Amino acid sequence: MKSVQEPVNSKTINLLNFDRKGLAAFFVELGEKPFRATQLLKWIYQEEVEDFDLMTNLSKSLRAYLSEHCYLATPDIALEKVASDGTCKWVMQTDCGNRVETVFIPEEGRGTLCVSSQIGCALACTFCSTAQQGFNRNLTTAEIIGQLIVAQKRLGSAQKITNVVMMGMGEPLLNFDNAVAAMNLMMDDFTFGLSKRRVTISTSGVVPAMYRLTEVCDVSLAVSLHAVTDELRDELVPINKKYPLKLLMEACRDNAKIAPRRTVTFEYVMLDGINDSMQDARGLIKLLKTVPAKINLIPFNPFPGSSYRCSDKDTINRFKTVLNDAGIVTTIRKTRGEDIDAACGQLVGQVKDKSRRHLKLQQEDSGRAA
Ligand code: SAH
Repeated sequence: MKSVQEPVNSKTINLLNFDRKGLAAFFVELGEKPFRATQLLKWIYQEEVEDFDLMTNLSKSLRAYLSEHCYLATPDIALEKVASDGTCKWVMQTDCGNRVETVFIPEEGRGTLCVSSQIGCALACTFCSTAQQGFNRNLTTAEIIGQLIVAQKRLGSAQKITNVVMMGMGEPLLNFDNAVAAMNLMMDDFTFGLSKRRVTISTSGVVPAMYRLTEVCDVSLAVSLHAVTDELRDELVPINKKYPLKLLMEACRDNAKIAPRRTVTFEYVMLDGINDSMQDARGLIKLLKTVPAKINLIPFNPFPGSSYRCSDKDTINRFKTVLNDAGIVTTIRKTRGEDIDAACGQLVGQVKDKSRRHLKLQQEDSGRAA
């Protein structure tokens, strides 16, 4: 497949930017029948045919139109790293000066791809290295689904992507339309065919977008909670100042209404002396009383310049036991790919920062040092 960086001459439409609905609308606009969308998806994703001329069930004139105006392009792999535990990280070049990271986590009977949604991140969560990079732009749908296409090709048939988590760089709900179109593609029977339980979107709590998501896209929801009081969450996950816990919990309850037995997964990073006391655990139980919830405790992964430390093993285990005893299914996320900086919160890529965030951080640092 073409690289997104290659000049495309008169060809202006990357067809990987469309989910099936988008493709159908595109074909209708061309005076074609909507079912062309399914035909095209089959060619691209199942037959892996890239040359429109070879798509023999499309009319000659349509093939000629597509050849003249359309193309298929994914990001390029700039770097591949394989960790001692088999975790694979790809640094993907999206355009000049910008790179995002994608991680494959092989496990017994399944393979999870952790996908990025933005180049950098505009949110400023204090414990996350992506946040330190600043923000450049949203990824396109093609760049998001392209991460699956490129990764599956690299892995070959021996290792299948069975699950996708939108937990790479960026806040997917701040790139709503492209994230939803890409997830629709992941779940489409004619592309990757993943079930809705195997596609998870993780958000730091963009409340209005959470309601929209409940309306339009039925995937599993994970929420990066990390604190049980507004005071602490304002500091760790600053978007909490805009959408405090009360509003966040209402949005979670709304999402859980989609189906019976539906649960929301709450991610909770374990920070030594910050959010890991027994009082925090009890606060968590109280907060989640009215939400069908699972909890995923994430041992904090350090990165250069981070001032937090991970809670010790005993504290994490005790925290987990208290939650489990209260009837909340709680797991501890296994840290994977640490030796190649592929673990949660360690993805940095390369970001041509437009938010000037890294400058602000540098100024704060030198202010502190003075
Ligand atoms: N912006 C979205 C998607 C990122 S998902 C979100 O916030 O949910 C990445 C997950 O890893 C989030 O739960 C995030 O809070 C967590 N995380 C970030 N930095 C981390 C770190 N240094 N150690 C462990 N987990 C971290």
